[in-house]
Amino acid sequence: MWCKDTFFICHSNIFAVFLWVLNDKNLDTMKKILFLSCLSVLAWMGISCNSPQQQKLQPMVKHVVMVGIDGWAAHDLAQAHDIPNIRNLMANGSYTLHKRSVLPSASAINWASTFMGAPTELHGYTKWNSKVPEIPALVQNNHNIFPTIYSVIREQKPEAETGCTFDWDGVKFVIDTLAISHWEYIPDSYVDINKNCTIAENYIKEKKPFFYTAYFGTLDETGHEHGWYTPEYYNTLAEIDQVIGRLIQALKDAGIYDDTIFIITSDHGGIDKGHGGMTIEELETPFIVCGKGIKKGFETPDVVMQYDVPATIAYILGIQQPQAWVGRPVMSFFE
Ligand SMILES: [Zn+2]
Repeated sequence: MWCKDTFFICHSNIFAVFLWVLNDKNLDTMKKILFLSCLSVLAWMGISCNSPQQQKLQPMVKHVVMVGIDGWAAHDLAQAHDIPNIRNLMANGSYTLHKRSVLPSASAINWASTFMGAPTELHGYTKWNSKVPEIPALVQNNHNIFPTIYSVIREQKPEAETGCTFDWDGVKFVIDTLAISHWEYIPDSYVDINKNCTIAENYIKEKKPFFYTAYFGTLDETGHEHGWYTPEYYNTLAEIDQVIGRLIQALKDAGIYDDTIFIITSDHGGIDKGHGGMTIEELETPFIVCGKGIKKGFETPDVVMQYDVPATIAYILGIQQPQAWVGRPVMSFFE
């Protein structure tokens, strides 16, 4: 409505001035031509400026890389030690420590929302290990799955290189693998995350992807085995921090770091040795975004939900989000 009204008012005014100049007997022909030329340029600029689609479809960068850390709680992050890369991303980027998971606070459900821009009731994944939606998805794309960030990119930028690598095979059921240039399940790399990390480094350097997710499941495993917020949990987070440092270095080695927005986030937190419940410890996770055009050291007061993650990615990459998504880009992150 705003756009239509502004367009109408702007062009009504220009048209009135146009008629006035044309009928003014005090102006000679040359002056009239000059005035009318200027008005034509103004009218053209009005059309350009008032097209929100053109503005929205302008990509901020050529690359987005997201590190997905399963089970990384925002709660008690202050207690974490040896995470210089994460702290550096927070100091040089924008973030919230109150992004809220959808219910139930478990993996497949919340990774579905992370890629599908929608809550449980819409995408239909309801269990920690759902392979197909238990509730029929309200909308399906031509691969018979709720639209994901990957399928939306494929539709709008068919040539774009997209990737997803993961060490929990549950991820493959919520990303629309048919729409992805390269996806890879890396078994058993919980034990040695270097394996997962090396594959991610090589992929970044070789393919310079438009959008890439590197998923790590080891922190969630540690939480289930030793408990959340235990020394073991924080030690594993410190190991993941080193992985983050290596992936940032891979972007620099690939020569694309300055044209990349780097994201780290999670699906849910945890409490004691589990999650899936309704405590804040289980529901709140970090969402940290850093790179060109992102405010530095900014903690947003805005409400952010799990399904706002892909909406923010789509906005950054100049991709129009589908009507089926209810997520919103976190606009306050942008300069
Ligand atoms: Zn999880």
